[in-house]
Amino acid sequence: MDKLLNEFRQDLISSDWVLFSTARAKRPNGKKEEENSVYKSKENCPFEDPVKSGQEIVWGYPNEKEWQAMVIKNKYPAVKQGVCGPDWKTGPFNIFDAVGVHDVIIFKDHDINFSDFTGEQGTEAVRVYKRRYQEIASSGGCIDYVMIFHNSGREAGASIYHPHSQIISTPILPPDVSKSFYGSLKFYQDNKKRVYDLIIDWEREQKKRIIYENDNFIAFCPFVSKKPYEVRIFSKESHAHFERMPDGLDGDLADVLLVSLKKIKKALNDPPYNFFIHTAPVETSSSEKIHEFYSWHIEILPKLSISAGFELGTGIDINVVDPDMAAEELRKANV
Ligand SMILES: [Zn+2]
Repeated sequence: MDKLLNEFRQDLISSDWVLFSTARAKRPNGKKEEENSVYKSKENCPFEDPVKSGQEIVWGYPNEKEWQAMVIKNKYPAVKQGVCGPDWKTGPFNIFDAVGVHDVIIFKDHDINFSDFTGEQGTEAVRVYKRRYQEIASSGGCIDYVMIFHNSGREAGASIYHPHSQIISTPILPPDVSKSFYGSLKFYQDNKKRVYDLIIDWEREQKKRIIYENDNFIAFCPFVSKKPYEVRIFSKESHAHFERMPDGLDGDLADVLLVSLKKIKKALNDPPYNFFIHTAPVETSSSEKIHEFYSWHIEILPKLSISAGFELGTGIDINVVDPDMAAEELRKANV
């Protein structure tokens, strides 16, 4: 009989609390809602032929003609190209114009989900992420942060079925990033050690929550997982900036990401999911020192639960699955 968890755990970096209440519900089910054929249809897919459907193309990889991945401008961008102005006030409120870049990265095959990519396709995705990140980050002012993320499945926010990632720059530091960033800085100042190293060392010692590792990366279910079956991926040699990762590691990163996604798919009945890259802010005065305290990483979140009144009212997530159990299931899923 598995031990039931009923405790609040505090995240070491963000100081956020998570409530583990594993008796509350049975294991969440990953089954997608019945997807209607219009959503999956290739015929009306705007990403099938980006040129024909009038997309504004940035570039194709490896080239525009024989593209395996293509960067296009989002037709309905959350942030827009423009002149970077100073922030201003309306009444007591701070306002900042939503200036930035919002691109979509389309992958060639309509029917191949990211979790089904081959190692080569995954490596290409990593290369495209890095290259576009570097271009956006060096494209001028007003870019404090560049976020790369991937939504798969309608319930996880993918309005278009065709596999695609997104990349958005923001003129402000997003709150979750800011919390981790300053949280890890404070930890370093207090302890003279990278908090991420401490956590990875502890995971290695405990051997309970690691689901996979290769020569250069490690994937585990965090002790303070906010969501059921959450997985985090870290480079074994810490780097602060994702985009500066040596090219020689692209293949290993694709491997750890794909194995993690395939395990989630297998163990949880092909759930919708999100993943994103948390990396250091684009430019700060202490850019060089960031390596001393911050490590970029990927977070994968299978979409198995929704935030309801308690979460919205308190900012505390309730997680009904013990991360030890989640990791055991994912570890066992052979892919
Ligand atoms: Zn398509």
